[in-house]
Amino acid sequence: MAAELINLPEDKMKEECGVFGIYSPGSDVAQLTYYGLYALQHRGQESAGIAVANGRDIKGEKGIGLVSDVFAETTKLQELQGHIAVGHVRYSGTGSTSPVNAQPLIVRYYGGSPAIVYNGNLVNGRKLRMQLEREGSIFQTTTDCEILAHLIARSGESEIVAALQKVLPRLKGAFTFLIMTPDKLIAIRDAHGIRPLSLGETAAGFVLASETCAFDTVGAQFIRDVKPGEMVVIDKNGPQSLQYAETEKQAMCVFEYIYFARPDSNLLGQNVHMVRKRLGRRLAQEHPVDADIVTGVPDSSLSAASGVAEQLGLPYEMGFVKNRYIGRTFIQPSPELRALGVQLKLNPVRQIVAGKRVVMVDDSIVRGTTSKRIVHMLRQAGAKEVHVLITSPPVISPCYYGVHTATSQELIGARLETKEIAREIGADSLGFLSEDGMLECLNLPKEEFCTACFNGRYPVVCTEECPYDK
Ligand code: SF4
Repeated sequence: MAAELINLPEDKMKEECGVFGIYSPGSDVAQLTYYGLYALQHRGQESAGIAVANGRDIKGEKGIGLVSDVFAETTKLQELQGHIAVGHVRYSGTGSTSPVNAQPLIVRYYGGSPAIVYNGNLVNGRKLRMQLEREGSIFQTTTDCEILAHLIARSGESEIVAALQKVLPRLKGAFTFLIMTPDKLIAIRDAHGIRPLSLGETAAGFVLASETCAFDTVGAQFIRDVKPGEMVVIDKNGPQSLQYAETEKQAMCVFEYIYFARPDSNLLGQNVHMVRKRLGRRLAQEHPVDADIVTGVPDSSLSAASGVAEQLGLPYEMGFVKNRYIGRTFIQPSPELRALGVQLKLNPVRQIVAGKRVVMVDDSIVRGTTSKRIVHMLRQAGAKEVHVLITSPPVISPCYYGVHTATSQELIGARLETKEIAREIGADSLGFLSEDGMLECLNLPKEEFCTACFNGRYPVVCTEECPYDK
């Protein structure tokens, strides 16, 4: 094993949140939500929380850290008794990592005390917030979640579904909300279905989750995806579907397939691992490379790397080992130690790569800093040549819909041509998957996806500055 370890900087597209909800009388809904959030942990690691309703009241627990950190004391879960629950994991792309921004957000107004969890970004969030503040609202958090709470309270409707039908058309952007009242669980998806949300069932009730891998964890069966512009209301009568907005053309985030989702999840009826494998095969067809082995950067690129290896007829090898046990509380090395090359998280396997011509597969290049380090690390471990294949086109525009990207100026794909990027990251060659190639691998009409970070064509008009482009 090589001695060198690498510390990956914040140079990845970051999904901001995962949501989970359950309506299941007679079940330990808090415990099931804990398991569901565990499965969704890859979607956000900065804060976690669960709220439970028992028909009368709502009680919640949330905090900074991984799900296992926030609920390390088992009594915290035991105190959450009821038959409905919502849960949330968050990566703070917008708003700070302050505990106050952790969700669920439980608010009180004349119509009740709903708990709200949310994934996405409102492109008119700042405008709505300013309007509400001018009208007298005082915000405690910097999340868009609280905007919906204020709109509900100001709707003039005491019944929550009526209030939502009145205010949801004012929200523009990408969002999935789960809203829990003492006796209802409500799921909402934006009119373009940019962020994913699926509905499933157990023997005792119904579940909702950002990804279907959470269903497997709690023994639920997938029923269907929540439709763009749909509100699903679950109560003692079961699920009821209401269309709160005209269904716009679906535009699901293509990065869910490329990078965010877990390989065992299904999105729009397709298994993520299988899609990534097709992306890898297509990539190798577009960029055939003469090499000895293929390796993927763990974890999101492993499926695609197996497709590349299959297509090139080369051995698929474990060129890296990832340290999975670095939590938030891990003490980052000091600048001095970093300068000495004390690096963490990813370790190249010298015996596998030394003396080899290596094809390194990754899902995307954002700033280029991570790719540069990984290529350097492979060379230090003895690789003779390093050829980098990327299972997406160059990222040239920031995301306005809840994914943390770099600024336009920082995106290496917006500044440099492919050959220049190869030189910058120190690779012998570099190939990006073409946009057409990527879309053909999805086996669905290409109009059904958002691909704006590759081409700047945004499905929802952005009237405000991108939160990551300041
Ligand atoms: S801009 Fe990119 S990351 Fe954002 S939703 Fe569209 S495809 Fe996904």
